[in-house]
Amino acid sequence: MIDKAIYIGSFNKEAECPATEIPEFAFIGRSNVGKSSLINLITNRKDLAKTSQTPGKTQKLNFFLIDDIWHLVDLPGYGYAKVSKTMRSDFEKMIQYYLKNRQQLYCTFLLIDASISPQKIDIEFANWLGQHQIPFVIVFTKTDKSKAVEVKKNIDKFNEKLLETWTTLPESFRTSSEKRIGQKELRSFIQSVLADNKK
Ligand code: GDP
Repeated sequence: MIDKAIYIGSFNKEAECPATEIPEFAFIGRSNVGKSSLINLITNRKDLAKTSQTPGKTQKLNFFLIDDIWHLVDLPGYGYAKVSKTMRSDFEKMIQYYLKNRQQLYCTFLLIDASISPQKIDIEFANWLGQHQIPFVIVFTKTDKSKAVEVKKNIDKFNEKLLETWTTLPESFRTSSEKRIGQKELRSFIQSVLADNKK
């Protein structure tokens, strides 16, 4: 059960993040993918992720301590058109550095909007994670937003694109923050990763 969620702080780079051994789970996706809504769903809060949406914090690594045992890390959304090209590459480098070097990072949740067809930037990002052997799972969001057949088609197409590069697909979840679907599954996934690493 997640009943405790505390905002720890927002950091500019990996070196500034809390130097603890607390296991971390990171959340990332394109802006507007439904990341804040999903974080609120998982933590059972109405506005936990709002903290990281306040101006100045959207491009930082936002840390929350959950149940005193793990850190939820809300990473900046990528592919945000309004950010200039150089800015974009600077903060993309910051995200990449965190993902590649963070020892306490147990798993990354890559959020993919299931209500739209596969986006090139998402495929590229998934492939990048795979190439660097960064443990990740996929969360297909907004599964309530389009008709079920459309959602299935979008997910199938996304998986097909991944299979052009990879022989196996990463574990995936289907969620709807609107309909509160997937909360139990994501929470028990996190618990099982934590339990596996304790042994
Ligand atoms: P973020 O930018 O990735 O943090 O995305 P938000 O959580 O702020 O959501 C972006 C928009 O998508 C908002 O208008 C949300 O209400 C909507 N949204 C988020 N999750 C869902 C969902 O599961 N279903 C539907 N229909 N809309 C959603």
